[in-house]
Amino acid sequence: MSMEELKKLLLSFKEEDYCKNVDLHIHSDVSDGKMKPDEIYNSAKKLNMKYICISDHNAIDAYEKICPKDDIIIPGAEFDCVYKGIYIHILAYGIDLENDELKSILSDDIKGKKCKITRLFRLRDAKKVIDIIHCANGLAILAHPACYWVINLENFILNLKEIGLDGLEVYYPYKRWRSIIKFHSRKTVLKIAKKLNLIQTGGSDCHGKKYYNFSLTKLSI
Ligand SMILES: [Zn+2]
Ligand SMILES: [Zn+2]
Repeated sequence: MSMEELKKLLLSFKEEDYCKNVDLHIHSDVSDGKMKPDEIYNSAKKLNMKYICISDHNAIDAYEKICPKDDIIIPGAEFDCVYKGIYIHILAYGIDLENDELKSILSDDIKGKKCKITRLFRLRDAKKVIDIIHCANGLAILAHPACYWVINLENFILNLKEIGLDGLEVYYPYKRWRSIIKFHSRKTVLKIAKKLNLIQTGGSDCHGKKYYNFSLTKLSI
């Protein structure tokens, strides 16, 4: 899929798709999730998911275990980055897994994929990561934007857009995973996405033992 085709596809997804059969944020045991990539894939197939992305921390090893060219797979990863002194996560979608520059920002040991503390000490420059995602034919999306401790979130995101950010993860079950460290609301994130004309994506950020797509009721603000 070309970058333009992927952009079109992502733009076609609405909130109800993310609540029903599209989940672009799942962790496997390659990073700190509990399920193996093929278990996630098989569960997603059983649940009739239309599209999924296994977005491991700084890693794409999941795609050695499942076919990245499968009809329901959008290949991706989630990178630990720093921007203006703030620790952020950037999701990469539709990336060419063979791209050499992409390989240069992956973690090559288990600690850089699984261990939160190690990951904190190995933050990547956000602009470099966004540039490399584009170079690998992918799109760069800011994960769970409501979590970042910035006073002016809109301005922060505008600056990220100026260095190439393509979209925001608007549909995200904050209450389930991030009740303690949430500083902004999903409503604010949605408003900013619309105002700045950014792609809106969504995902469960599932790290669990069992994969299930999240329903609207679980997608709490
Ligand atoms: Zn994250
Ligand atoms: Zn995640």
